[in-house]
Amino acid sequence: MVQRLVFAGLMILVGVGCQTTSQRSASSLPAPTFDAPPVTLRAAVPPPPPAAPTQAVSASGQANPSSGVPRGWAPPVKARPWRWIVIHHSATDHGGAKAFDKMHRDKGWDELGYHFVIGNGTDTPDGMVEVGSRWPKQKYGAHCKTPDNRYNEYGIGICLVGNFDNTRPTPAQMKALARLTAYLMQTYRIPASRVIGHGDAKPTDCPGHNMSVASVRRMAQAIVDSGAATDPALARGSAGSIGNASANQ
Ligand SMILES: [Zn+2]
Repeated sequence: MVQRLVFAGLMILVGVGCQTTSQRSASSLPAPTFDAPPVTLRAAVPPPPPAAPTQAVSASGQANPSSGVPRGWAPPVKARPWRWIVIHHSATDHGGAKAFDKMHRDKGWDELGYHFVIGNGTDTPDGMVEVGSRWPKQKYGAHCKTPDNRYNEYGIGICLVGNFDNTRPTPAQMKALARLTAYLMQTYRIPASRVIGHGDAKPTDCPGHNMSVASVRRMAQAIVDSGAATDPALARGSAGSIGNASANQ
């Protein structure tokens, strides 16, 4: 058995080696030696499996959406020059980032198309913000295709779980959405007028006729004006301060 492993390891070494080398030397290779040093065995260890979809999505939302700015919201790389925030509904009764990631990959997409997903108490807790795998990389979105692709290139895609043609977003979802939107508006200097629904960018029913984007703009702007958009202490509900309206420009 050990000998077979060693032999397999050698074959793998030959197989993964530089092509020109293996082609040139295939006939001149020494015969496999079955008492090769143990280090050869390490080549027989299979590489780690590719990351599962669940690992591609980090659920850095929090049980209590008002407990400060979650670290996952601030990407570890240089920010993309975001210009819009685009709101979607999933048009499904249930789901979460993991389920939608699979759905999008099954369609042949690279990964979850949205940057954030806000749960409705089915797959994830009601109002929980999940950070999609694109966000830490500051990668363009795949949620709002238009001829010039500007909303995918420079639009942050937020999807709320639910079908808002049939139901309404839950209060916890709206609170989390306002909080996240305010944070993004403040951080990327996006004015409320550039917080839009998917249907504002192209003909689609998304995010459903029961989703009021105007309400989201109003709620998010109030948080920005209170100075709580990026301040964990203020976000916990303590006294407000003089509003920072720089994001309105
Ligand atoms: Zn949409």
